[in-house]
Amino acid sequence: MSVQEGIWFPRDYDQSRSEFLAVGKELGGEWESHAIESLGPQREPLTIDLLTLGDLQSPHCLVLSSGLHGLEAPLGAAIQQRWMRLCLREGGPPNLRIVLAHALNPFGFACQRRSDAENLDLNRAFLRRGEEHRGAPPLYKTLDPLLNPEAPPSGCDFFRLRAAATLARYGMKRVKQAIAGGQYEYPRGLFYGGKGPSEAQQILTPHWKAWLGASRRVIHLDFHTGLGRWGEMTLLAHPQLNSPWQQQAAQALGGPGVDRHREDAGAYEARGDFGLWCAEQAGEIDYAYFCTEFGTYSAVSVLHALRRENQAHFWGDRASPAYRHAKQSAADAFCPKSAAWRERTVLRGEAACLAAVAKLQENRLD
Ligand SMILES: [Zn+2]
Repeated sequence: MSVQEGIWFPRDYDQSRSEFLAVGKELGGEWESHAIESLGPQREPLTIDLLTLGDLQSPHCLVLSSGLHGLEAPLGAAIQQRWMRLCLREGGPPNLRIVLAHALNPFGFACQRRSDAENLDLNRAFLRRGEEHRGAPPLYKTLDPLLNPEAPPSGCDFFRLRAAATLARYGMKRVKQAIAGGQYEYPRGLFYGGKGPSEAQQILTPHWKAWLGASRRVIHLDFHTGLGRWGEMTLLAHPQLNSPWQQQAAQALGGPGVDRHREDAGAYEARGDFGLWCAEQAGEIDYAYFCTEFGTYSAVSVLHALRRENQAHFWGDRASPAYRHAKQSAADAFCPKSAAWRERTVLRGEAACLAAVAKLQENRLD
């Protein structure tokens, strides 16, 4: 089998979940399926699935999670699948604690939305104790009519021209921060963090620490797409996670970690960060978290597709070609059909998993 033939991407949530369960069963370990309240497009039940492998007492732990942003799940699930199959071929998983979380936002995966059933952007929604679910960047109010038109998607509304004019007026840095920094006041808007804990957060909170077992050192790769250059991997981490272990792990994964403040990373500072929440749940241990991004199209193209999908979701006719087109272009924006993109990203993701395992296995603590 050639490398290309070996690249597998899920067709949809159902297929992804069945393959995850099938290969997971062969690997052994323990299963947990957590149902969410919302149903899928065919009224089918949806679950967040967890597979934990290895010794609960191991001090080293690898966490691989997919689909926090539902639409972005296919690549994360493909990397999880590839890595699990590699473990099977090599006679079992490495001697570590391993936590695999499939489809943290199953509704978004099944319904081709980045956000969850309540329109929450889950990487803006994990606010911690004492943080309030309110506020929005000052510029968001100005941009709201451009970002979130209250109308079905139409073929031509000059979005790119208007986006270019907005960028020229306010500057890339301010606009990016206003759009992607997270907002808690526009429930039908993009990058909405919600008015209370998300369903995913409520499901994960009682378990996160227990899943890690006795781990004292963790590397967590949380797979995302849509940010960065075509096919390239970028490691993002919240500035507060800048520990020596985080730095060492970033080096091992193939480059320095970049934080959301660095302009050249194309990133921004966001509230409700999932990684920060994970590390806090883990307590006083070395927790290296990476929002592991793989680039697709330009930021304006990705935003255009997201905006159109949001219009279709809230204002569109579900039976219309425009609705289907909006869904398809959103899916493509976060998981291009290009065979070259798919091969490159899956192999890069697999290499990151292998590098994380190697890093966890060197200088063992036990
Ligand atoms: Zn994402």
